[in-house]
Amino acid sequence: MGQGILVLNAGSSSLKFSVFEVGAGGALQAMAVGQVEGLGTAPRLKAKGADGGVIADQSWTTSDVANHGQALQEIATLLRSRFSGQELAGVGHRVVHGGPNYSAPLLITPEAMDTLETFVPLAPLHQPHNLAAIRAVQEARPELPQVACFDTAFHRTQDEVAQLYGLPYEYFERGIRRYGFHGLSYEYIAATLPEVAPEIAAGRVVVAHLGSGASMCAMHHGRSVGSSMGFTALDGLLMGTRPGNLDPGIILYLLQQEGMSARDVENMLYKRSGLLGLSGIGNDMRVLQESDAPRARLAIDHFVYRISRELGGLAAVLGGIDAFVFTAGIGENSAHIRRLVCEQAKWLGIDLDAAANEQAGQRISSVGSKVSAWVVPTNEELMIARHTCKLLGL
Ligand code: AMP
Repeated sequence: MGQGILVLNAGSSSLKFSVFEVGAGGALQAMAVGQVEGLGTAPRLKAKGADGGVIADQSWTTSDVANHGQALQEIATLLRSRFSGQELAGVGHRVVHGGPNYSAPLLITPEAMDTLETFVPLAPLHQPHNLAAIRAVQEARPELPQVACFDTAFHRTQDEVAQLYGLPYEYFERGIRRYGFHGLSYEYIAATLPEVAPEIAAGRVVVAHLGSGASMCAMHHGRSVGSSMGFTALDGLLMGTRPGNLDPGIILYLLQQEGMSARDVENMLYKRSGLLGLSGIGNDMRVLQESDAPRARLAIDHFVYRISRELGGLAAVLGGIDAFVFTAGIGENSAHIRRLVCEQAKWLGIDLDAAANEQAGQRISSVGSKVSAWVVPTNEELMIARHTCKLLGL
């Protein structure tokens, strides 16, 4: 076997990884995917090989695998045992925040790390874990080149007008602006459309990334011109456990009238709201779709309503749309949600092909549909691996 690229995506209590083999001409082949989850509580490594077969399922006590460094050691042990003839050429990381300026991936250097540290206040719940994973690799394999790929980078093509909030301008200069997230997913879709749907790739396209985090992006000529997420990944659509956009007065009310602490509010906004908070049942769309509970229905209806509102706004930004693309866990797998969203979007000229939608064909709108609708599976890990290869000249 040849050279490999390790892709890491570090969360607060998990370290997700993928391994790609770099073939002739830089072609990338996924060899393994998995994660160590439950860091700090009940650590467990689960991984699958290229054929989808389980290659690891192992649990530890909390103290054995307590942090990202130890999780990385376990992943390295697994990879050495499975791919002994393969040399790692580099590591690509998903890094949530690239600040106001980074519009492209970055080769990690000590100076780059200093800069990425300055973005920690912009994403305090995510950035420290992303940087911890980079440091863990530096300690274990200091000679390995590493690349940071930012979730915000794709949106840096947006006009200043689109990135503003209506606060005193000095706050924009101090970094309070709409950054937009899920950029690696949107970039992958933009890179894929010329192959799967060349007729729309250069057009006005709204992409809905509907996963446990959810957002929408307006693209023109494959570049971001608007997004539903803003300063943080709390903004925009209703999500699994996050509320999406909210009157900021509600936060003031919770702090001042309900006597909640900032920490309580943060916890509610990130972990107890969204589909979970509205339904009182859970954040998994599959569970809600199968439930007869009125509040499960209410949560789904609100989820769809918010997508419809956002679609109207982004269509206005684009001056009309040529195509609508669904992606991520819900977008790729839920024919039910796609149908509800497309029914609400009839006014825009979307005419769903019910059979194609049920079969999750690539194009799910009718032949005569004025605006076409598509399902395009996303692959953020592959996007990171591509960037890493490119920056390392592989
Ligand atoms: P992601 O964050 O992209 O992995 O997406 C996770 C979300 O996708 C979860 O909320 C799941 O409920 C949802 N999901 C996955 N498969 C399906 C499905 N077949 N139907 C509805 N929702 C699904």
